[in-house]
Amino acid sequence: MTARRIDGKAAAAELHERVAGAVRNFTQAAGRAPGLATVLVGEDPASAVYIRSKNKATAAAGMVSFHHQLPETTSEAELLALVDELNRDERVDGILVQLPLPSDIDDKTVIAAIDPAKDVDGFHAENAGKLATGLEALVPCTPLGCLHLLRAELGSLAGLDAVVIGRSNIVGKPMAMLLLGENATVTIAHSRTRDLPEVVGRADIVVAAVGRAEMVRGDWIKPGAIVIDVGINRIPTEDGKGRLVGDVAYDEASEVAAAITPVPGGVGPMTIAMLMRSTLVAAHRRAGIADPEGL
Ligand code: NDP
Repeated sequence: MTARRIDGKAAAAELHERVAGAVRNFTQAAGRAPGLATVLVGEDPASAVYIRSKNKATAAAGMVSFHHQLPETTSEAELLALVDELNRDERVDGILVQLPLPSDIDDKTVIAAIDPAKDVDGFHAENAGKLATGLEALVPCTPLGCLHLLRAELGSLAGLDAVVIGRSNIVGKPMAMLLLGENATVTIAHSRTRDLPEVVGRADIVVAAVGRAEMVRGDWIKPGAIVIDVGINRIPTEDGKGRLVGDVAYDEASEVAAAITPVPGGVGPMTIAMLMRSTLVAAHRRAGIADPEGL
């Protein structure tokens, strides 16, 4: 079997287009465009690339972006003061503080300071709690993107066995909650899981969010499973440039799975598309307008 390649780039492009349409409607109804504030502390090159793509996508969708670049030496108090200012700024519907933060700033304190109504990353405990209890929440963008791809692939997920490898607050846990919400039977695996290949072998849906290059091998996968690879790992190459690979050995898994996301070009583009969608949704809720449909 050769698996279908799930084209996250194409799915994201389609979503960007639909979001842009809904942004035009919102702007007309509310008399202003949705606004996303991004905050980057320091000069981490990977973070700078992410922030640039987020700000580019915001402008392309017809939303307003407010970028705040702070020096590496910024104190926690200074960052909290900026978050407070953004919480009170009516033009700002979404606040995204790019992680990781410098080591002397506590990311938990910063996340807790963000107004949950503007927490488009969905990391605030109030949003995590709402997701876990089935209330309307802002949900982390990466798992939301994975769910979008799974729904497009499978339609209903009810009754399917899903294994999520990884239990971070950013990917693994919210992914498991979303799958449970879709009535899948969910197993969360992590570094202490016994016999991971056997656990993965039972799954109709495998979501790998570990951060270990090509850890999930082809012979772990149940024939016909759908594989969503969240991992982004750079491995060395002879030319010194390195190459991006996922947490799943793509070629091997492609021999067994029914469909699989590539790295790059799978989950990554969906994450940014979902951030645009969440900013738009946050704008609707803050303006007291019903959520946009068909997104
Ligand atoms: P974390 O490091 O926070 O979590 C990794 C998880 O993997 C942990 O729960 C850990 O278990 C588990 N794990 C580690 N080693 C093993 C192992 N040998 N067997 C089973 N489980 C293991 O990572 P994130 O969740 O933040 O990210 C995961 C990956 O996804 C990374 O590669 C990251 O770059 C990528 N990513 C991609 C995004 C995208 O847009 N495509 C967005 C966000 C992340 P334990 O809890 O026991 O330590």
